Amino acid sequence: MSAGRTTYAVIGDPVEHSLSPRIFALLFAELGIDAHYTALRVTPQELPEAVARVRRGALAGVSVTLPHKEAILPLLDDVHPLAGRIGAVNCVVRSGNGTVQGYNTDLTGFRQALEEGGERLAAARVVLLGAGGAARAAAFASVSAGAKSLVIANRSAERAMRLGLELVETGLAWPEGELRRSWEAGERPPERPGAIRLGEVPGLAGPSGKCFVSVLPLEAKSLANAITHAEILVNATSLGLRDRDADPLPAGCPLHAGLTVLDMVYRPLQTALLRRATVAGAASIDGLWMLVHQAIEQLRLWTGQATPPLLATRLHQQLVREIT
Ligand code: NAP
Repeated sequence: MSAGRTTYAVIGDPVEHSLSPRIFALLFAELGIDAHYTALRVTPQELPEAVARVRRGALAGVSVTLPHKEAILPLLDDVHPLAGRIGAVNCVVRSGNGTVQGYNTDLTGFRQALEEGGERLAAARVVLLGAGGAARAAAFASVSAGAKSLVIANRSAERAMRLGLELVETGLAWPEGELRRSWEAGERPPERPGAIRLGEVPGLAGPSGKCFVSVLPLEAKSLANAITHAEILVNATSLGLRDRDADPLPAGCPLHAGLTVLDMVYRPLQTALLRRATVAGAASIDGLWMLVHQAIEQLRLWTGQATPPLLATRLHQQLVREIT
């Protein structure tokens, strides 16, 4: 690392296999930015010092990966309202006066990856598989962008229900079905310190009114009908990761040509779900698009630099060549 050079880093443990250093090296080269990006192994005990390095300006900004995405929130001066609601920060930005802010760029990456496939969340009917960290970003992106409806299906029904209740609590979503019964019975999600009612944040309320949210079992019997009426199907489970035959969607859920299928898994790139989408004539978007767009958003937050047209496409093409 050369002294005095602007340095960014990804912090996590482990970080050895992170694609981020390669992605940012490509981005810096494309945009003519004279900066360095490195992978720093940071243990939970070392996390406060890593944040202090950003505050001091020793690091110009950091990407945050496992296991720190949640633990970093209370160490920051400010957290974007959506990142606060998701409960995860993957990008830390240093402002001129040395304060540090947290953002969740998976949310933007998800939205923009869909746009690559010509799809918009506004007024869309979305079916989401998963209720973990990545699914939370997709769920909050959907309700805050004004999706018409969102169906959440997860292996653990309890985790899906908790996410559903959190979405309703934002003021941007109406509960339906089992979720509505739970809400009316007075069930509420555990408190998230600092989380605010998103419906009261200017610019965050969906343009088309509230999103109808329901929680269904991850089973063909209940999901098939929801998929028939959906425009967007998202896999945010880790099923399919490093297993090209694992399919998160139960057999007996037919896909259709009016559907756009986004799989967040990018290793392998052509997952079983995306192959199934292609056979059904549905549009498919691989997980690398989301990864590329969330990185471009991080760079925009750090530098304020506008990105040229087709930057994401060039980056995606290059990474496809390198990882497949
Ligand atoms: P996570 O928080 O650990 O959540 C994992 C999700 O997968 C949960 O919903 C879990 O269900 C489900 N799951 C795991 N094993 C399963 C199985 N055998 N059957 C059914 N469901 C199963 O992980 P995450 O951070 O959300 O990441 C999820 C995936 O998204 C990973 O593959 C990750 O690489 C990918 N991702 C991609 C991007 C991108 O930019 N493309 C960004 C973020 C994440 P339970 O709740 O029942 O355990």
